[in-house]
Amino acid sequence: MPIIDSHIHIDTRPYEDFEKLAINLDCAITMAHDPLKPYSMDIIRAHFDKILYNEVQKANKIGLKLFVCLGIHPRMIPADVNYNILKEYLKNKDIVGVGEIGLEKCTKEEIEVFENQLIMAKELNLPAVVHTPRTNKYETTKTILEVIEGLNLNNNENIIIEHCTKETIKMIYDTNLKMGLTVQPQKLTPLDVVDIVKQYGGERFLLNSDSSSAPSDILGAPKTVLKMKINNIDKEIIEMISYNNAKEVFKLNI
Ligand SMILES: [Zn+2]
Repeated sequence: MPIIDSHIHIDTRPYEDFEKLAINLDCAITMAHDPLKPYSMDIIRAHFDKILYNEVQKANKIGLKLFVCLGIHPRMIPADVNYNILKEYLKNKDIVGVGEIGLEKCTKEEIEVFENQLIMAKELNLPAVVHTPRTNKYETTKTILEVIEGLNLNNNENIIIEHCTKETIKMIYDTNLKMGLTVQPQKLTPLDVVDIVKQYGGERFLLNSDSSSAPSDILGAPKTVLKMKINNIDKEIIEMISYNNAKEVFKLNI
């Protein structure tokens, strides 16, 4: 069964994990994040360059198909934030979306940067990958939905709300937005995904491991696919959440 891990941070992982992904998955999508203190926009550029050039090249060499989303993470906002620089990067051929963006503490500055990037994603016809935090997840997800609604993007099928839980799915389900299911220690277990899929079906969900420098399971996606098979989830539904939905929303050429 084909598998895409729709959200990882490959630049935080060792060479051996590139190999594990290449062996066990068909493709992965890597996102910008917060690797260093955002002293200036130059730090962001160096981060983007590393992902877009070094990591993609490393992945290609080892046989891992890797796509890239770039954006300014809410924990990575520099004082001299420059949207023109971001826009230039987003024109690269390996870019499939804007991410990850979103809110962490819901400050005025975070909301402004989030809004600007949502608008940019829409203008460039790219999907947007939206981070929700571990702390105050319910309240912050609510604010994120309000910001999206304020921009009239509530029906936008190209927005993915990430790291959803059983609690937050209920409120996101009333929109047309997509939902990322993250299988990671301290987030969802493969069995949580089985429960969610049994209740909601697979139509708007994307599976991922969000593998980063935090506790992660690089094989979270294939392990969840196996758990879904064992628990008799329809093949069609498994394929939707582990492959087809990501392929469609990110318009992947695979
Ligand atoms: Zn992430």
